[in-house]
Amino acid sequence: MKFTSTRGGQTATLDEALAQGIANDGGLFVPEALPRFEPADFAGAETIREIAGLIMRPFFSGSRLAGEIEPILAETFGFPIPLRRLPSAAGNLGLLELFHGPTAAFKDVGAGFLAACLGRLEGRREKPLTILVATSGDTGGAVAAAFDARPGIEVVVLWPEGRVSARQAHQLACWSDNVRSLAVQGAFDDCQALVKAAMADHGFQNLFRLSSANSINIGRLLPQCTYYAWASLAHFRETGRKPGFIVPTGNLGNGLACLLARSMGLPVGDVVFATNANRLVVDWLEGAEWAPRPSRATLASAMDVGNPSNMERLMHIFGDRDTIAAKVRAWSVSDEQIAGEIRRSHEEFGLALCPHTATAIDAWRHLDGGERRAQDWIAVATAHAAKFEQVVEPLIGESVELPEALRETLARPARFERLRPTLPALMTAMSGRLSLDGAAEARDK
Ligand SMILES: *Cc1c(COP(=O)(O)O)cnc(C)c1O
Repeated sequence: MKFTSTRGGQTATLDEALAQGIANDGGLFVPEALPRFEPADFAGAETIREIAGLIMRPFFSGSRLAGEIEPILAETFGFPIPLRRLPSAAGNLGLLELFHGPTAAFKDVGAGFLAACLGRLEGRREKPLTILVATSGDTGGAVAAAFDARPGIEVVVLWPEGRVSARQAHQLACWSDNVRSLAVQGAFDDCQALVKAAMADHGFQNLFRLSSANSINIGRLLPQCTYYAWASLAHFRETGRKPGFIVPTGNLGNGLACLLARSMGLPVGDVVFATNANRLVVDWLEGAEWAPRPSRATLASAMDVGNPSNMERLMHIFGDRDTIAAKVRAWSVSDEQIAGEIRRSHEEFGLALCPHTATAIDAWRHLDGGERRAQDWIAVATAHAAKFEQVVEPLIGESVELPEALRETLARPARFERLRPTLPALMTAMSGRLSLDGAAEARDK
């Protein structure tokens, strides 16, 4: 399997695409063809690992990692992904809980998979691979946790100071010396722009072997298809019906993964993207120009994206607006609606939802009654409420218990440095101390 750039200027193997992150021409890697499956192809495969193994195999053909898919998936899925039923009179609703990993958000799946792959590909090289990651809160923590103390790989995390929760900030800054945490004086978009600029800069390219672990890396996207595959198959086997999915989405990585799973033949019904007040995709699907805007701060902060980077992939794979609008709907949820939904779900289901997950349940309520009943729906729970306790606890009037993995992370000491959002400032910070000594120490552990 080959991977091509959305801009047409590069063709790469999976291994190259994983290590590079972004294509030489600035485009995003996409598989040159999607494998096609039938539900019957998965006969005998029950667990998410078994199903993921079948889905991932074609993408690994020709990769040095082709013989290691199983251990890679064992590392990726080291935590449970339950699909639970929510008792509702309004229609069949399930919740796909993707937040039982080390940083309590769905990004642990993509980050864990990417780290498992790159650790095997890069561990023995002389010059370390430096992974630059911009985060609105959750990506950076998941990537840092996944690459923590991995030999031959360094991580530099850029996050917008003051725009992430206290617990997220801790998760961005409590790892071994191979992980560097930079608090940027700006918004997420500034962090993302800095990463893109550094990747395209010759000075940076001379000093570092750079890669990206943002959702632009194909190694994040591919494994995310697998939980849609597993959940849709599980539901389909049990009921004979294809479930629709409602996906909270910002950079469109998680949403795109769901559409890809359906295109590969998995029994996925309708797909709805739930966004927060950053409603560019919703407006575009309704006919507005594609005009990236500065992101707005919302309660669902990990989805505060004004210029979703996976849009380029979405259009490359699926075509123009009319084609895409026939495949997916989108719904924008205000902060007021998020808060209202967190309260309501707590009363109705006895659940503490994180603000991102609340956008999906709100979107489900806004489907018209007929649609809610015409198909079973699965809302995707992207983070644990305990990660956003300052939002959630006052709304539900009780405290949210910390999951064990998160408690361990929060007990580690944290440290970070502040950064002005300019390329020279980033260069100074990165050429300072990174590389050798810090990584050597981490290697000894
Ligand atoms: C990152 C994130 C999202 C959005 O995912 P995309 O892949 O950017 O669409 C939603 N919810 C949570 C909790 C996240 O961390």
